Amino acid sequence: MFRVRVLGSGDAFNAGGALHSAYLLEHDGGKILLECGPSTLAGLKRNGVPPDEIDAVLVSHLHGDHFGGVPFLLLDYLFCSYRDRPFVIAGPPSTRARITSLYANLYKEEHFQRMPFELRERAVSPGDSFELAGLRVEAFRVPHEAEPFCLGYRISAGRHSMLFSGDSAWSEEFVHRSQSTDLFLCECCSMKPETDFHTSYDDILANRDKLGCKRLVLTHLGTDVRAAKKLEVERAFDDMVIEFD
Ligand SMILES: [Zn+2]
Repeated sequence: MFRVRVLGSGDAFNAGGALHSAYLLEHDGGKILLECGPSTLAGLKRNGVPPDEIDAVLVSHLHGDHFGGVPFLLLDYLFCSYRDRPFVIAGPPSTRARITSLYANLYKEEHFQRMPFELRERAVSPGDSFELAGLRVEAFRVPHEAEPFCLGYRISAGRHSMLFSGDSAWSEEFVHRSQSTDLFLCECCSMKPETDFHTSYDDILANRDKLGCKRLVLTHLGTDVRAAKKLEVERAFDDMVIEFD
């Protein structure tokens, strides 16, 4: 079993009232959060997912709409779910430091010193291939303005696999890395090209015939993409469940 639960399909601006980026990946061997925007805890609780069931968080880059929810997850572990097992934070180098700093700015009471569980870091660089909660993760760099960089991920669970774009302009990497995947979750911020670091619906239409995924789902949706009456490509929505047996 491999299940992708879209907790948040929104962009940084919560277009259409959608929650920030967050996807729960579940398989027989564990659960990870792919991205953890500020509203992720709401998404988990809305879907009846106990936050403590999550083994690890994997972020594509260090923009607030992708990692700003981790301090609230830690806060829940400290005061609500009383976690005592290790929690893994995976993402570009400095992810743990950025989270620690963010937490310290949000809450000055030095809770971190009392965290009764281990916070493990897995720094990820382009080209890395590693296991996270039983999932095989391959990281690659994508074109997005982010410090130190933004990563796309190809993630497999047994015979199932998915590709995730992160936040990115269109990249030819998506073409070859999508081959033989079950799902490509691709960001789509606007209908027409607007920036050099996000993908538009026009970019996707121009390239979709080259993709090798069984299912293409657009996410991180901007206002106009969300509002469009009919699209030729499937759109994600909050609480959407995509499951592979
Ligand atoms: Zn974003």
